[in-house]
Amino acid sequence: MKRIGVLTSGGDAPGMNAAVRAAVRQAIFDGLAVTGIRKGYAGLIAGEYMEMDTGSVADIIHRGGTILRTARCEEFYEEAGRWQAVECLKAAGIEGLVVIGGDGSFRGAACLHQMGIKTVCIPATIDNDIAGTDYTLGFDTAVNSVVEAINKIRDTATSHERVFLIEVMGRYSGQIALYAGIAGGAESVLVPELPVSLEEAGERIRRGRSRGKLHSIILVAEGVGSALEIGKVIKERTGLDTRVTILGHIQRGGAPTAFDRVLATRLGSEAVKLLSAGASGVMVGMAASQITVLPLEEVLSRQKVLNEELYRLAGVLSI
Ligand code: ADP
Repeated sequence: MKRIGVLTSGGDAPGMNAAVRAAVRQAIFDGLAVTGIRKGYAGLIAGEYMEMDTGSVADIIHRGGTILRTARCEEFYEEAGRWQAVECLKAAGIEGLVVIGGDGSFRGAACLHQMGIKTVCIPATIDNDIAGTDYTLGFDTAVNSVVEAINKIRDTATSHERVFLIEVMGRYSGQIALYAGIAGGAESVLVPELPVSLEEAGERIRRGRSRGKLHSIILVAEGVGSALEIGKVIKERTGLDTRVTILGHIQRGGAPTAFDRVLATRLGSEAVKLLSAGASGVMVGMAASQITVLPLEEVLSRQKVLNEELYRLAGVLSI
């Protein structure tokens, strides 16, 4: 293998840049040439390619987003669009591809693998909803952003003796809500993977008040439903003043945490080594602090499981 390509695709996540940097530098260290592909699969089809050298990835390890840009690409859902991409890759002499993105991007990568392009994927999404890896790039940073917001909101919640509902990202995944809820000391965490009891959430608040607790924080993953509506129900049940904050896109950006940078660096480097060794159609991830390599087919057919033990622990700590 003489030349590889690197692209970021789907939703951006902090740590993507650190992964690009590691992949580029590992490749150059190993004597490979590297093409950076801009705007994900859209740029792959449109031939938006740029030569990467060690300097091109300088000063990016600490930056959120992705210097390669990212995009969603309708044409890539069609076989004709994907063949166009394969032709462009061949014309540019790119023999292997590192794809950094979420599960949608992995589905696209699995197609490329079947079409004869060697492809290795790196999981990057703040949702941490990809099976076969303990963490995805960006998750730790997003959790830290939410915890920072909780700390601020708590000041107001205490001062005004209010109940605050904080809606966080996670249409199908309660990972951010659970981890941030534990780290931020929330009274209740509502996640889409498990049954939600507003009665229990109300009960927890009432118990807290009777112990003299001045405020309550409930974390709601967006997949559970509208925090505004849930807030109304909680108000009816407890008779307490409730406020709702929807954190939205501030969870997506920001400088990656040290954890995300180290993870990105390990995965970026490993992806290149795997391509050099002839691997394809796989995801490189991390489980129990060890690098793992799994077929994309397996990753995409499995559902990420929420750690129920951790969920129960969140409940124990907020009695
Ligand atoms: P993410 O990677 O963050 O999950 P998306 O689901 O939007 O983001 O996927 C990113 C891109 O991957 C899509 O815009 C599309 O180009 C490609 N893609 C997603 N699903 C498929 C699929 N089933 N087949 C081919 N390409 C896909």
